Amino acid sequence: MSVPHDAPAAPAQLPGAASLATPGAVRGLIGPLLDALADGAAARGGPLPAGGPDALGPLAEVLPEHGVGVGAVAEVARLLAAGSADPADPWCAAHLHCPPLAVAVAADLAASALNPSMDSWDQAPSASALERQVTDALARLCYPDAAEPDALITTGGSDSNLHGLLLAREKHGRITPVCGRNAHHSVARAAWLLGLPAPLLVDCADDRVRPAALAAALASVEGPVAVVATAGTTNSGSIDPLPEIAALGADWLHVDAAYGGGLLFTADRGLLAGMEAADSVALDLHKFGWQPIAAGLFAVREAADLRAMAASADYLNADDDTEAGLPDLLGRSLRTSRRPDAVKIAATLRALGRHGLGALVEACRTTAARVADAVEANPELELWARPELSTVVFRPTGECDVAALRRRLLDEGRAVLGRARLGGLWLKLTLLHPHTTAADYLPLLDLVAKAAR
Ligand SMILES: *Cc1c(COP(=O)(O)O)cnc(C)c1O
Repeated sequence: MSVPHDAPAAPAQLPGAASLATPGAVRGLIGPLLDALADGAAARGGPLPAGGPDALGPLAEVLPEHGVGVGAVAEVARLLAAGSADPADPWCAAHLHCPPLAVAVAADLAASALNPSMDSWDQAPSASALERQVTDALARLCYPDAAEPDALITTGGSDSNLHGLLLAREKHGRITPVCGRNAHHSVARAAWLLGLPAPLLVDCADDRVRPAALAAALASVEGPVAVVATAGTTNSGSIDPLPEIAALGADWLHVDAAYGGGLLFTADRGLLAGMEAADSVALDLHKFGWQPIAAGLFAVREAADLRAMAASADYLNADDDTEAGLPDLLGRSLRTSRRPDAVKIAATLRALGRHGLGALVEACRTTAARVADAVEANPELELWARPELSTVVFRPTGECDVAALRRRLLDEGRAVLGRARLGGLWLKLTLLHPHTTAADYLPLLDLVAKAAR
């Protein structure tokens, strides 16, 4: 039996808004939805809504006794857009929060409409095959010289860091995690969740782990250690000295390249030298990669290490099904039902290729370098250090309450600047908008300088 392409709305006894996501039904909603997004953005008129949390209008009633019908979609979309911190606005630049690409958003609609679930092959035949192609290609990108690398799709860097410590523990027993003070907070949470000792924190210089301090920390630990190094810190985009760290020979080395992994698409991938020695790597395509959240990757140098993730449930991956050739998907995630995030990634990788993605990463890095030049040239501003990736850390010279200045710009709806505690408190621009140039940020630098006067 085939379903008509434009299968009509719901059966007469059900509400009209109960149509399923057939192409025809979705097409009818998309036009009004896109108009509502444009309307909402125009009403907002800046990178975020002015007036803070109290100024956001709520939905009239989220669970009415009787629904309002399909118009709810445009209503919610307008509300969302009017109240968004929109990363497609260049002045929304606080976090590793990227404006997604149209190709990724459109492809993600296919994933939503078909709803493959990645826990068994019989729910996701082509989605699971696409995921394999994506994970194979990205594992190879992380580990070009490894015999058999592999990778899993995760929800992001936090999840990937958890996987890194999990596999380290499965291989080496009760490991002690060791990382820089610059490491992402998720490392400590992962240790907590896995019942491991709290990470031993190593001192940094310029937001990079000091190898001598790491060596001393390793010498002080009895039993196995897992080192987590950071390739692109959240605060400043700094890259730990990976070759020196790898040379210290921890039992397990996990490199958190959630941010810096984007360099793999560029000619500057040499900045990640040493990463090939890591047992595992975290990479986030919802940062450099321009995917809608979630799009995380966890790569391992040796596919065999992933066997520790194996799980069985007769209804999903019975031995006889696996022996008959059906792929066993359950061991490829800690989740069961799981969105096919690989679909949007596959469309993006194919649409842009490595060079295309590399050009976007380079565009952001160039803009950051030119913005840093402008900060250095402005006597009213101080630059923390030259950017290594696309983060510009700066502040007004002289007395300034940086935290209050940041909140004022938020409250006025004028700019979303980040904050970074690096010694003192600094402002931060995390530049992930691939179409901007430094000229887009010069008025923002002036605004900051003026606000501090
Ligand atoms: C963003 C980031 C994370 C967290 O990633 P999520 O995708 O937000 O879970 C971890 N580590 C680093 C270095 C990051 O930049």
